[in-house]
Amino acid sequence: MDKKVKSDSKPKTYFLNKSCPFCDQGCLCFSKASRGLKFLFCDECDAIYFDPRTIETSPFCTLHYDGTVWLFDSSDPLSKTDQVFSVGDAGIMNLEEIKEMGWEDLIGGAY
Ligand SMILES: [Zn+2]
Repeated sequence: MDKKVKSDSKPKTYFLNKSCPFCDQGCLCFSKASRGLKFLFCDECDAIYFDPRTIETSPFCTLHYDGTVWLFDSSDPLSKTDQVFSVGDAGIMNLEEIKEMGWEDLIGGAY
């Protein structure tokens, strides 16, 4: 596997063609973790979603700065319930990785 490759151009952050269903304003960025996990990360409220096609119905999770994912009780989003797992170092997905997941038709733009 390739190590991190340095590039002159800043990598783009691709985001979903829908805003976050929880906060209704954040961009959902195509993201990945060190163990190959792919997910969408809200740049406003830190919500994460594991499947861009079911974001409206998936359980509400958030990603904390220490790389742990917490599942919240959907009836009370402010009550932290369970730590699900640690994703380790999270980063953004490049276009090839998004295509590999079959998600390229869901890209809303990039910044
Ligand atoms: Zn959000």
